[in-house]
Order: sequence, then C-alpha cells, then structure tokens
Amino acid sequence: MAKNILVTGGAGYIGSHTVLQLLLGGYRTVVVDNLDNSSDISIKRVKELAGEFGNNLSFYQVDLRDKPALEKIFSETKFDAVIHFAGLKAVGESVEKPLLYYDNNLIGTIALLEVMSAHGCKNLVFSSSATVYGWPKVVPCTEEFPLCAANPYGRTKLFIEEICCDIHRSDSEWKIILLRYFNPVGAHPSGHIGEDPRGIPNNLMPFVQQVAVARRPALTVFGNDYNTVDGTGVRDYIHVVDLADGHIAALRKLSDRSIGCEVYNLGTGKGTSVLEMVSAFEKASGKKIPLVMAGRRPGDAEIVYASTEKAERELNWKSKYGIEEMCRDQWNWASKNPYGYGSPETNHS
Ligand code: NAD
Ligand code: UDP
Repeated sequence: MAKNILVTGGAGYIGSHTVLQLLLGGYRTVVVDNLDNSSDISIKRVKELAGEFGNNLSFYQVDLRDKPALEKIFSETKFDAVIHFAGLKAVGESVEKPLLYYDNNLIGTIALLEVMSAHGCKNLVFSSSATVYGWPKVVPCTEEFPLCAANPYGRTKLFIEEICCDIHRSDSEWKIILLRYFNPVGAHPSGHIGEDPRGIPNNLMPFVQQVAVARRPALTVFGNDYNTVDGTGVRDYIHVVDLADGHIAALRKLSDRSIGCEVYNLGTGKGTSVLEMVSAFEKASGKKIPLVMAGRRPGDAEIVYASTEKAERELNWKSKYGIEEMCRDQWNWASKNPYGYGSPETNHS
C-alpha cells in the first residue's frame, strides 16, 4: 500500500521539489502550507509534472500554529511520516523580528509534534541547516562538530534539533532524522518549479538570477579578502533535486528498527567560491553579471562545506549534480519565469 506522507511547507522552494519526487516515487502526499512565503501555483505545477501521480497530492492552506485545523487533517488521514519544511528562513529578518521567528518556527513545530504524537505518527524528517556549524574552524563539517547559532533563525534550528532529541529520549517510539542542508540552488530541469523569493533575495543564486533577467543591476560581492582561492566566500552548493532525493532516502531510513534521533548532512562535499559560481552561471546563461565589490557581510563564515560520508554510508544517498547542472537548471527556470510564479505587476521589489 502506498505510504501517506504529510509535508509541511510543501509549497515552498525545497518542499515543492521534494513533493514532486515523493509523488514520482509512488507516495501519497498531503501538503500543509500557509503560503506565507510561497504560491499555490507551485502546487499546481507539481501536480502537472507528476502526471498520473498528480492525483495523489492534496493541499491545505493551513498555518501550523492552527492546531484545530492540523488535528482535522490528521483525523482524516493516517500518516506514515511527516517531512517538516515549514518555517521562516531569512537571517536578517530574524535579527530584526526574533519573536516572529520563535513564534512561527518553534510554536509551529511544537504544535505539529503534539498533534503527531496524539495521532500516533512518530516518524519525522526535519529541515535543519548548516548554519548550526556557525564559523567552522576546519572543513569539511562532520555531524559531530560543535554547534552554535549566529542569529535567531539559526537558534530556531538548534532548538528544534534539541527538542527532537528530547522527545526521542522521552519516548523511543519516535524516529527522527534531522537533515542539515548546505546551500540548495538550481531548479527542476523542466523549468516549471524553482525558487521564488519575496522581496530582495538574501541568498547568492536567487540574486544572481535576478541580475541575469535584468530585475537588478549588479551583484554585490560580500568580501574579497577571505583566505580562499579568489578571496570570496566558499560554500557547498547542492542541486535542489539532489536535496529532494535526500529526503526520500531519509524516509526509507526511518523504517530501520535501529534509528532513533539521527542527524545527516546533505551537501556535495565540494566548496565553490562566489566568483566561481558567478562564472558558472554566466557560462550557463550567456549573460554577463556585473559585480560590485563590497565589504564582508556581518556574521558570514569564510569556508563551509560538508562531510558527506555519513549520508553516503547510512542513507545510501549521494549528490549527482555539479555546479554546471545547478546553473543550467537555475537559468532554465529563470528565463522561463523571470518573475517567478508572479508577474511584473505582482512583484514590486
Ligand atoms: P521556503 O520559504 O520556500 O519554504 C518554506 C515554506 O513554509 C513556505 O512555503 C512558507 O509559506 C511555509 N511556512 C512558513 N511558516 C509556516 C507556518 N507557520 N505554517 C505553515 N506553513 C508555513 O523555504 P525553503 O528554502 O524551501 O526552506 C525549507 C526549509 O529548509 C526551511 O525550514 C528552511 O529553514 C530550511 N533550510 C533552507 C535552506 C535554504 O537555503 N533554502 C537552507 C537550510 C535549511
Ligand atoms: N553573497 C554575496 N552577495 C550576495 C549574497 C551572498 O557575495 O548578494 C555571498 C555570501 O557572502 C557567501 C555566499 O555568497 O559567501 C553564499 O551566501 P548565501 O547567503 O547564499 O548563503 P550562506 O552564507 O547563508 O551560506
């Protein structure tokens, strides 16, 4: 029998790609999303891309903090597992509005865990982040590295990781996988779903993409005096479809008897500088990206990339795509949808 998976935040960037992979993998999928940072057009496109499997997708526009609405969804379907993406993720905004982040991310997660527990669904995959490694002293980052949080957003990830470990300790029926994502980029190769941030993008590649389609004049490079290959910051960029597949691998792992509360990095294990990424994007798009060199962004780490050994060994998962494919697919999405899921009129920023 097909498994039922609840995906919170499934209309968002990583969620929509994961929902598509779930459907294509034969899972029945229910998405809960308040559309705070997304559009239901992504859900419609996922349905179309999934073809005959599209009928296995249902969507509820619900906020996780609305417990009665969540209760209703759980009373209608018996879920085998939950993949929990829903949360706010803008670092700068989290510094300005910490309570908004603690309320949305922590209270939302606690409500979800309570309803799951009440309905006997104790299998969870949670979206954590490489941000919990802070400013690593050495690379690659292994899952055993000391953790820290540089801002309220990062603290919500750390707290939720701890909460998950605590509930597993209190009740060994819980099986929980914490996935620490490195830097997701790219889009589905069809070009029909991709990242569509509201306002000025905080992350590198959405910004580059908006420069390429002439929505912004130039990319500001934050720091060219780092101790790296060309002075610019180094990160581990991972294709969003690889990342989505990592969730399917994690779901499979949840059926291991031995799993308790386990953490895995999802990255490629390779570091790429800002200038290397820009150059790969220019090659893929044929567009020149004008650059403005600026000082370091406060709080930024110099070099961050993942150790991928644990995920390879225990999840049987490994990334397949390199930065050429990431840039090719990101450009395909951008050129087909220069205003994301909106239009020039709906996108005023
Ligand atoms: P996203 O904003 O595109 O998706 C998150 C979704 O959650 C959105 O559709 C939003 O509307 C929904 N949401 C937020 N709060 C909600 C609530 N209270 N109730 C219901 N829905 C709610 O972000 P994404 O890039 O797809 O990230 C998904 C998850 O992965 C997040 O938890 C994020 O912190 C984490 N993550 C993202 C990155 C990244 O660079 N994109 C890196 C590491 C971790
Ligand atoms: N970056 C940049 N200009 C931008 C956005 C990001 O130079 O407009 C740099 C940033 O300093 C870092 C890298 O690109 O070295 C990745 O930044 P992003 O915010 O995407 O990811 P994070 O720093 O959270 O890993």
